[in-house]
Amino acid sequence: MARSTPRLRIAIGRIAQESNCFSRLATTISDFRATHYLEGQALLEVCSPFGIELPGYLRNGELTGAVDALRADGNVEIIPLLSAWTIPAGPLTRDCFDTLLGRLTEDLARAGKVDGVVLSLHGAMGVEGVADADTVVLRAVKAVANAPVTVTHDLHAALTEERVRTADLLVGYRTNPHRDHRRSGREAAQGLLAILREGARPETAWRSLPMILGGGNTVDFLQPMRGIFRRLGSIVRDPRTMTASIMMCHPWNDEPRLGFSSLVSTRGDRAQAESWADELAELLWSVRKEMPPTFRSPEQAIEEARAATLARKLGVVVLSDASDVVSAGAAGENTRPLRALYEQARDLVSLVPIRDAAVSEALWKVAEGEFAAVTLGGKIDPREPSFSCEGKVIAKRMHPALGRMVVLDLGHVKVVITQGHSLAVKPSFYSELGLSVWKPDIVVVKNFFPFRMFFAPMARKVIYVRTEGSTDLDAAFKLTFDGPVTPRDEVGDWRARDQARRAVPG
Ligand SMILES: [Zn+2]
Repeated sequence: MARSTPRLRIAIGRIAQESNCFSRLATTISDFRATHYLEGQALLEVCSPFGIELPGYLRNGELTGAVDALRADGNVEIIPLLSAWTIPAGPLTRDCFDTLLGRLTEDLARAGKVDGVVLSLHGAMGVEGVADADTVVLRAVKAVANAPVTVTHDLHAALTEERVRTADLLVGYRTNPHRDHRRSGREAAQGLLAILREGARPETAWRSLPMILGGGNTVDFLQPMRGIFRRLGSIVRDPRTMTASIMMCHPWNDEPRLGFSSLVSTRGDRAQAESWADELAELLWSVRKEMPPTFRSPEQAIEEARAATLARKLGVVVLSDASDVVSAGAAGENTRPLRALYEQARDLVSLVPIRDAAVSEALWKVAEGEFAAVTLGGKIDPREPSFSCEGKVIAKRMHPALGRMVVLDLGHVKVVITQGHSLAVKPSFYSELGLSVWKPDIVVVKNFFPFRMFFAPMARKVIYVRTEGSTDLDAAFKLTFDGPVTPRDEVGDWRARDQARRAVPG
């Protein structure tokens, strides 16, 4: 770009995690340090096109996208602050949050005068004793920077009026399963450059729906959400638009104003932003009764899998352990499906993941081919049932994000025991341990929807299993909201609540 433009100093940073308020797995600073905790040059290096931003999880994320756009400008000094990200789990401890926020704002203060900041936040991060933690981070960064701050958010973010007002531009993912992290970072940086270089004045409108579930499977390219995402795409492509998002919230978030939302920022056209935000909100409201797939007990699931002989011959039956979805913050130590498959499905070969740091450590010392007796589960939450078994250690691997992984062969069940998060979402979780995901009858995943994309080649049948855990959809019904929410309660109209939620606080 033109060399005559003034050189800009733009900082990039991140504090992000998706928190499940029912999970007993508290998130500490060591979780961030073990997953993604970088500053300065080390952060810039992983945010280059050939770098790996979040090893073992995501190659190029939001900050790679931001760096793309800032470098493309040709006259920006990029200032890498703290970037901290970790796998979904329970809320952050207060100590962890204070440490991260202190570090981020110190980095920013030390950087001296900046012209703007691109900040990557999840939007559904919980912190013990802190309400609306994402807004607390945003406010702190904005106060130190004293300059425009544009923000990226997950599609499962819960928005608040203060967050929307404080951000100069807020860019969400527009895919579910998420595959546009980098695009969202690029868009947030381009928005910041438009503000700084062209004097763009974003006019932002949003709507908040008293709706915590809906949209069926919530996948962007499948019905019923497909048509809504298409309409969103046409709004995004309109030259008046700076960014537009729809957010479907994380239903295990204890924000009382939780709900689906729409968000549109235009280049100075307030009326148009309002009109589009309103239209998208109506579209979201129209799918509020569309519920996710029906859930089965482990016994029913085994019966269905057994009956699906052709599916098992041509590929595998994939069971989603829907009560223990690690990618939505569950602890990953649910033994109920494991016990059922072991005791009631002796004629079927199954692959099952479980988190158990102590057992993974003990088995790490056992040679491959040797037998060991273990008791799995109940380590993070002692109220959870455990499962005792004996098997042969057949494979081991040190995973960059999940730690020690050990395969214990119980005969018809192969259990993958992880030290860290038992994040079984992709076939590689198993195949990297030498376990074929084509040969068994049943493969268990700890994920709601993205696995359907990754397992598409071999999954001939998908069954959702519900037992008991922190990602049961109706677990959210126990939370306190600012009034009735659908589908827990009958809600006739969304507009009054939306207006109350968007009213200026105080
Ligand atoms: Zn998400």
